[in-house]
Amino acid sequence: MTEITEGFCRAGVLQTDLEYIKKKKGNEGLNKLDKVLKGMGISLPNIQSMRSRDNVPLWMRCKFLDACLEVFDGNIEKIREMGREAPKASMLIKMLYPFHLSPNYALTHASRVWRDHYSAGELVILESSSCHALLALKNFRTTKLMCIFFAGAFVGVGDLTKAKNLVCTEVKCVNEGHEWCEYAFKWDI
Ligand SMILES: [Zn+2]
Repeated sequence: MTEITEGFCRAGVLQTDLEYIKKKKGNEGLNKLDKVLKGMGISLPNIQSMRSRDNVPLWMRCKFLDACLEVFDGNIEKIREMGREAPKASMLIKMLYPFHLSPNYALTHASRVWRDHYSAGELVILESSSCHALLALKNFRTTKLMCIFFAGAFVGVGDLTKAKNLVCTEVKCVNEGHEWCEYAFKWDI
C-alpha cells in the first residue's frame, strides 16, 4: 500500500467535484456518494458545510476520489473528465488564465496555483517550448486515480488558453516506481 504524503488540500477542490457529480448524476449521484463515503468513515455533509479554503487531509481527498469513481461505476475516464471541468469552475483560475494566453504563460503560474490548492508537493516546469511542455509534480505521493484527475485538470487549464488540441500524458509516475510524476503536454497553436 502506497504511503500517502501528509498534507492538505482545500475543501473547494472536493466541492467542485460535488458540483460536477450533481450536474452529471443529480441528487441520486450525491446520495450514492454519501453512502459510499459513509462506508469509508467520511461525512459528505461535513465536506459540504466547509468553507472552500478550509483544509481537508490528503488521504481524505484520495478516498473521496475513490468514492467518486464508484459513483461513475468505475469508469476512470469520468474522473479524468471531472478533472478537466474543475479549472473552468474556479473563478480564481479563470482570472489567472485569460483565454488569450499561451499555455507556456499559464504554466508560469502553475506552481502558485498548486500551492493555493495543496499544502504538499510542488509543480516544477522542466521544459516549455512553443508546442510542448513537461511538468513535474515532486514530493507528492497519492493514488494513481489522483494522477489521472490531475492530467484531466491540466487539460482543463489548457482549455482556458489559446492552445488547440492540447493533450496531457503522465509519462512518469511515483505509483509506477519513478521518483516523481511527470506530465507531458502537446498542443497546436
Ligand atoms: Zn503519478
